[in-house]
Amino acid sequence: MSYKELKREVFEANMELQRRNLVIYTFGNVSQIDRDKGVVAIKPSGVAYEDMKVDDIVVVDLENTIVEGEMRPSSDTKTHTHLYRAFDSIGGVTHTHSTYATAWAQARQSIPCLGTTHADYVHGDITCTRDLTDDQVNGDYEEETGVQITDAYAERDPNAAPMVIVAGHAPFTWGKDAAQSVYHAALLEEIARMAYLTRTLDPQAAPLKQAVMDKHYLRKHGKNAYYGQS
Ligand SMILES: [Zn+2]
Repeated sequence: MSYKELKREVFEANMELQRRNLVIYTFGNVSQIDRDKGVVAIKPSGVAYEDMKVDDIVVVDLENTIVEGEMRPSSDTKTHTHLYRAFDSIGGVTHTHSTYATAWAQARQSIPCLGTTHADYVHGDITCTRDLTDDQVNGDYEEETGVQITDAYAERDPNAAPMVIVAGHAPFTWGKDAAQSVYHAALLEEIARMAYLTRTLDPQAAPLKQAVMDKHYLRKHGKNAYYGQS
């Protein structure tokens, strides 16, 4: 894929964030990696969606050095590149401050799997990371935000839960490419909203039974998946 094509896909995915009402102003950013070239295209820092052009998208390498582009890359770039280095199966990353997902992050609560909508896309809870330590905040903050996420996945397959919420901050999602990471950001917001409403109606609402959780996840994603058209 040429840089131009990569930038075009990242531009379209960033614009989709706005169309799905997942961001306001300059909140949020989407990136995509070209593993063969070892480069990541990402939204420029502080540029409003309505003003953004394809050529504003910045291309960096996995050590965050700018390879192509006139603008500064998103301030969250180091979190994105950390995720690409740690999770070698992913191709796109999205960060938003979407309202309901961010509310769970601010409450520092993982989102329990309360129903099949959640179970269709994520196998188990949507994890809320631990808080950053003072040293992490005062050190390489955006890199350390990535470390918080990957620490939470030490025992977990990132593909079985392509979304996480960062304590006191907001969600990060990923997928096979930029577009799928945005799709997961939209799903997360809806799942977070449903979980919030459920726990408002019944603060003791129990998680879905493990057997149903497994059934719904595995019929879509397991090795013998049968949901949809093949
Ligand atoms: Zn943020």
